[in-house]
Amino acid sequence: MLVCHGKGVCDGIAIGKIKILKKSESNIKKIHISDIEKEVTRFHNARDNAKKQLRQLCAKAESELGEESAAIFEIHSMMIEDSDYIESIENIIKAQEINAEYAVLKTGENFFEMFSSMDDDYMKSRSIDVKDISDRIIKNLLNTDNDENKLYDKTIILAEDLVPSETVRIDKDKVLSFVTINGSSNSHTAILARTLSIPSIVSCNINMDSKFDGKTAIVDGFTGEIYIDPDSVTVEKMKTKMKETDLQREQLNTLKGKENITVDGKKVKLYANIGNIRDIASVLTNDGNGIGLFRSEFIYLERNKFPTEEEQFCIYKKAAETMGRNKIIIRTLDIGSDKKVDYFNLKKEENSAMGYRAIRICLKEPEIFRTQLRAIYRASIYGNISVMYPMITSIEEVKKIKDIAKEVRNELENEGVKIGNVEQGIMIETPAAVLISDELAKEVDFFSIGTNDLTQYTLAIDRQNEKLDDFYNPYHKSVLKMIKMVIDNAHKNNIWAGICGELGADINITELLLAFGIDEISVSSSAILKVRKKIRETDTRKVNIRKWL
Ligand code: PEP
Ligand code: MG
Repeated sequence: MLVCHGKGVCDGIAIGKIKILKKSESNIKKIHISDIEKEVTRFHNARDNAKKQLRQLCAKAESELGEESAAIFEIHSMMIEDSDYIESIENIIKAQEINAEYAVLKTGENFFEMFSSMDDDYMKSRSIDVKDISDRIIKNLLNTDNDENKLYDKTIILAEDLVPSETVRIDKDKVLSFVTINGSSNSHTAILARTLSIPSIVSCNINMDSKFDGKTAIVDGFTGEIYIDPDSVTVEKMKTKMKETDLQREQLNTLKGKENITVDGKKVKLYANIGNIRDIASVLTNDGNGIGLFRSEFIYLERNKFPTEEEQFCIYKKAAETMGRNKIIIRTLDIGSDKKVDYFNLKKEENSAMGYRAIRICLKEPEIFRTQLRAIYRASIYGNISVMYPMITSIEEVKKIKDIAKEVRNELENEGVKIGNVEQGIMIETPAAVLISDELAKEVDFFSIGTNDLTQYTLAIDRQNEKLDDFYNPYHKSVLKMIKMVIDNAHKNNIWAGICGELGADINITELLLAFGIDEISVSSSAILKVRKKIRETDTRKVNIRKWL
């Protein structure tokens, strides 16, 4: 048995088989090949497999998401038949006597450059598609040799690192856990693990040794330990721990249907954070009273091209219908920094957390913003939707946003579209927004405090950097004082204030938040009932605020 240690980012125990996830492109080396014909056949077999997969994906997308979503796979199916593309790959294999993976990679890169330099917008947008099909063929080439990337029924993913656009594509029915060598506790991959209730470890002192592939392992998300080839004593110990966790869960389940009310009678709203409409099932199972943060950027991260207004409308409508009268707060696109997708063509930035991201992109490229707002407004009549804007730093930004939102609303009304009563709120996640929160409160209907970024920007600590995890302290007096200031300024101006950062799920701080007068707490679904328990045990009259500030 081998035991490796890291930082647990989501509680729970998972028992499964390790699958090493390698980034396909970074592994590809140029290798000299002597049997050229065999190599060309390997390429064609991989292309045939890719074609089959595309047909299946097309059918799946059509039945689950509609014709428009399926169109991308049809385009890919056509491109994979393109004779210029096929000939280029064959030529590279034959002329340079090299491996098919490298030839596909090179052709993909050449075609990408060619398409992206064209004047025609349609052709330009195909550049990403050609990269995508090349990637698919490469994955198939790697699979034919060593069955790489096929998931077991109960898989523990072991990876160097995972970025949100990869995490979001993983087959959640099969993946029980993530273990990464890099990664910080506050990254979006860690947050996603908590949203999905997947026991996971980051910053683990394990290596990517291929001999681990297929080995049975146990992940302890409480302690951040992974046991590879566990001995029978460890298996028994972990099974007992699993049973205890199940028992605690059952006890928490008795709180379903109960109010979120303190001993001294203060009521608070307890909502859930989601990244996808599939997460709503877990919100309902855990008795969330609403959705306090729908991270809409995950809709973009799951795709290879911009989601259309219609696609987004269908998603928001479905969410609104499912949640009925309960509130859903849709946060507009918060892309950039660690959340990147190729089709946005975002440049590499030295300081991406402080870079071109979130509302800044929406204000600079208003067509992307307008499309999303149209979809949100159209869906608003089907339920109780609010909209919230991320990364706000000034009154001017809020005024510009409100002007655009008003124009979109008027445009839709002129088209005869019915729109619900959509509250507009902002995230308070920059010190700038905190310090002008008295003025901002006059412009909006609510605040939601994003402590993940607020901690990062207040303490000047990159939340992505695992080396800084020990310095990342959301209990820092400056952060707590800011939270109090925001709530006070909201109340002075008769608006409500909530929290949707990870600190909201930390039951060590629930008492303080309640004593500050927080109106809403939004947490990952799996944390709802434990926070409800803490709320019901709290008497805000007895909280010693001075101890914290
Ligand atoms: C936050 O910053 O606290 C937040 C909720 O947003 P995200 O984690 O998606 O940046
Ligand atoms: Mg944030």
